[in-house]
Amino acid sequence: MKSIESATLFLQSCFDEKGLPEGYTEKNLLDLYSLSADPSFAANLFKIATTIRDLNLGSSPWWSAGISAITPCEIEPSCTYCTFFTRSAAEIEDIVAAAQAIASLGIRHLHLSGGSRLATEGAAFSGYDSQMIDLVSAIKDAVDMEIEVNVGPSLTRKGVRALQKLGVVAVTSSLEVFNSNLFERYKPGDSLSGRIRLMEICEEEGMPIRSMILVGLGESDEDRIAHLIFLRRFSMLRHLRFSRFIPFPNATAGGVRCSPWPVARLIAVARLLLPTIDLGLAAGNSPDDLPLWWLAGGGNQVLGASVSMRVPQGKGTGEGHVITVNERVAVHNKMQQITRYLDELGLTPIFLK
Ligand code: SF4
Repeated sequence: MKSIESATLFLQSCFDEKGLPEGYTEKNLLDLYSLSADPSFAANLFKIATTIRDLNLGSSPWWSAGISAITPCEIEPSCTYCTFFTRSAAEIEDIVAAAQAIASLGIRHLHLSGGSRLATEGAAFSGYDSQMIDLVSAIKDAVDMEIEVNVGPSLTRKGVRALQKLGVVAVTSSLEVFNSNLFERYKPGDSLSGRIRLMEICEEEGMPIRSMILVGLGESDEDRIAHLIFLRRFSMLRHLRFSRFIPFPNATAGGVRCSPWPVARLIAVARLLLPTIDLGLAAGNSPDDLPLWWLAGGGNQVLGASVSMRVPQGKGTGEGHVITVNERVAVHNKMQQITRYLDELGLTPIFLK
């Protein structure tokens, strides 16, 4: 039976940069997670999580940026909570122009994300291997930036190797929800096994991995903790981002927006399990979530600018300053707003060199 006393004792045993002590159990983590629903207990968990974050990653957030909808999504039927995919391909020149505009802000870290085309292993390139190789080559020719790639389970081993040669710093494979029934219900055209396989390929090839968890789709506490424990087996995992479920207008999934509280608590438990991993915020969160994220041991990457290749010029997404690149591309610069939010936490964001 869980008790505050035994959970507190366990929590105290995590109090160094290594996070969890040897011999921890899934039940230890489940107890911590469920007890942290009480804010007074969560305060203890957050304190230890932030200490582990500071010991391993320091206390300086650093700027990153994203360009989304770079590839059409060919998943049919589409995921029932998703309305942010595109069915048309973006021009390489426009994506390069967006990357140059982001670089002009001083940002040196870029993640490229798009829809999926399921890949099959074989002699030839498959999925989006060739498109990503061409795109990364073009961006690398134009700007000096670290590039991460996220096109779902659309890359083969050959594609991963080619991207590694081009200097890609991470490939994303997001399991989203670690419950195969829920995955099939909400992502009926997608492949959980394909996503796990891509993580395994990256692990075997020495390619850093970035992954995402979607919180609030209907998964249990057990599913959330099992998801974190599963990810811990990947020694190449470098980034884990947490999405907060939001029922986008016109999405058939319906439902109610997830509170930031279970997300923050899960980040804190993730910090114990994954002490050196960058834990970030993804879709469904906003800059308003930054204080709780930081307080819970999140860090250290912050998204300063974004471009969606499906949003017409002048109509960036969310708050911030819109920089028009051309008639088809606009960069949404949130650095000013985020700098103010971080400053009010006593933090100063830095640029990668
Ligand atoms: S695979 Fe990604 S982009 Fe495509 S429908 Fe699903 S969530 Fe949307």
